Amino acid sequence: MQLVGIAKAAEAAPLLESKRTVSYSHLATGKWINHVAGSRFPFNWSINPYRGCEMACQYCYARYTHEFMELRRPEDFETRIFAKVWNTSEFRRELMRIPKSQAIAIGTATDPYQHAERRYELTRRMLEVFATVSGHKFWITTKSDLPTRDLDLLKQVANRNVLYTNFTITTLDPDLARGLEPKAPTPALRLAAMQTLTQAGIRCGVIASPVLPGINDTEPELLALAQQAKTHGAQWFGGGVLFLKSPTKEVFLNYLDQDHAHLAPRYQATYKQSSRPSREYHQQIEARFDAIRNQTNLGRRATPYLPPDWEQGQQLSLPL
Ligand code: SF4
Repeated sequence: MQLVGIAKAAEAAPLLESKRTVSYSHLATGKWINHVAGSRFPFNWSINPYRGCEMACQYCYARYTHEFMELRRPEDFETRIFAKVWNTSEFRRELMRIPKSQAIAIGTATDPYQHAERRYELTRRMLEVFATVSGHKFWITTKSDLPTRDLDLLKQVANRNVLYTNFTITTLDPDLARGLEPKAPTPALRLAAMQTLTQAGIRCGVIASPVLPGINDTEPELLALAQQAKTHGAQWFGGGVLFLKSPTKEVFLNYLDQDHAHLAPRYQATYKQSSRPSREYHQQIEARFDAIRNQTNLGRRATPYLPPDWEQGQQLSLPL
């Protein structure tokens, strides 16, 4: 087959390093900051410094993105990691073109603090650029405790820009987390990292996504998670229900067969016709989150704030 576009670039990507189970490659990128169409997200632009993610979550919806590179084995997404080729001046040029009223999300497809970040520091380099600008609005989403490495930079960014950080935590149960998110830091490490950030004044919240029917969706489990989030400084708490499409669907159903075999037939039936469970299930989960937020005094979303070194005249550009 004649490879084109991103698939051709991936095949030609120079190898940075190959470990026993994971290889890292350099991938040229035409654009760092991508426009997000539609209004259902609280951001207008996205940045994903890596393709693939070694954390290997069974439910990871981004697995399909490796198929753009003709990498179709289920394990390719978590074992063939691509680090985009960094270029500070090009990144800065792109950033300068983004209207300051529009939010930029880091980590919408893959985790910006995944293991590769310890070696290649692409997220850190972005923060170094963000720390030199003011008046922007940034969202970071991660399942890692690595943001603590960048605490000083995050504080600089948050002093001059609006910065929110989402920690994704699906369960407090370390055994369940190990099965669901085999190579992610434990929930306790993520909570501790969030506490470090919140104590330094960084606004953080917990996203309990995905909610998995029959696995992590009981009221006591979600309430306990929200209470821990609150104790560790979270300002908001939310979550969305599992979305399942191929190739993630096959990976997740295989995980169910091994770890929750009794649930496999119900998931098969539920996700046979649709990529989501019923509207009724969504409504019940929404109501459950509302009740838990009321009980724990956590917000549904981040509330606007004025950074101390905010560029004069920019506050009115925040969405009200
Ligand atoms: S941390 Fe996020 S991007 Fe990485 S595998 Fe898990 S869900 Fe996917």
